[in-house]
Amino acid sequence: KKKIAVMTSGGDAPGMNPAVRAVVRAGIYYGCDVFAVYEGYEGLVKGGDLLRPIGWEDVRSYLSLGGTAIGTARCAEFRERAGRLQGAYNMIVNGIDALIVCGGDGSLTGADLFRSEWPSLVDELVSTRRLTAKQVEPYRHLTIVGLVGSIDNDMSSTDATIGAYSSLARITELVDYLDATAQSHSRAFVVEVMGRHCGWLGLMAGVATGADCIFIPERPPPADQWASELKKVCSRHREKGRRQTTVIIAEGAIDNQLNPITAENVKDVLVDLGLDTRITTLGHVQRGGTAVAYDRLLATQQGVDAVRAVLELTPADPSPMIGIAENKVVRRPLMEAVKFTKEVAKSIDARDFDRAMQLRDSTFAE
Ligand code: ADP
Repeated sequence: KKKIAVMTSGGDAPGMNPAVRAVVRAGIYYGCDVFAVYEGYEGLVKGGDLLRPIGWEDVRSYLSLGGTAIGTARCAEFRERAGRLQGAYNMIVNGIDALIVCGGDGSLTGADLFRSEWPSLVDELVSTRRLTAKQVEPYRHLTIVGLVGSIDNDMSSTDATIGAYSSLARITELVDYLDATAQSHSRAFVVEVMGRHCGWLGLMAGVATGADCIFIPERPPPADQWASELKKVCSRHREKGRRQTTVIIAEGAIDNQLNPITAENVKDVLVDLGLDTRITTLGHVQRGGTAVAYDRLLATQQGVDAVRAVLELTPADPSPMIGIAENKVVRRPLMEAVKFTKEVAKSIDARDFDRAMQLRDSTFAE
């Protein structure tokens, strides 16, 4: 009987619970034993109670549960070979040789490294007499399947990561709240959203709420001009009768000389314009709460396919990442996706940005 372990790792994202539920139940449906690894890679390294069977009933109510109930953590030990060796030991003594990881690019990179090292880890367990050759024989190969759980939508080779649309919905709702009070008092709000490297959330929230201006890492404005441009745009909107000003800024916003642009910087410009300006950092509420329907569906479909992939893959296949493209669940080589994400970043269509700005810009109405 195939034994599969499922884990969530890295930053939590809404939809991770539905993903775990799908893996557990699809695994059982296909006749496997399913284990949960608690607290991300920490559970793999520590083993014991952090690596134990999980059943059909254990994941009841997971569809509407935010965060990740099996826990997640950053685990320094797993970055070292000794930690991964311990992880291999804990898996083999439990009879597990397939791991489905729901996490970001860091977690998935770790998983793929674990797989490529696996044969040598197994050899080391035998040569150091922690396990016998007979014990390790059925576990010569490790199967890894990745599910991308990330609110940032920051992975290439998939249209959406699990959690991104939930976070976007939350941000949109919160900016609407701010807009209402901004309008009442004719105030300006600078709203900082998550996104250190990827501005998808900021851009899409800006489009969805009709922000006056958006600052994201992928679109660095000219260092010597952005402040005057911002003033121009915002005062034009005010002249046209807009009673509020909303600027959305991603955490990782920079100018074209790579200087950070902070919410404080933006506020200073708006204050200079004479606007009563407040900064709102949305923070961790962006990660919280229950997943939107789309993320539940994505997690469910992808979780089921992850189990199928485990059963279908051969040792010669590269580890897959389960993605979605044109509404179809797809399998893509995991390390190619990670490499492409690192080198090129997930491409944000710059035209989206321009279009968003145009719809805000009343000069186009003239
Ligand atoms: P994310 O998965 O959200 O990108 P991290 O980059 O923090 O988050 O990775 C989560 C965990 O995955 C780390 O704490 C570490 O245990 C493991 N990990 C990340 N990168 C590697 C790596 N290159 N080698 C081994 N393990 C890694």
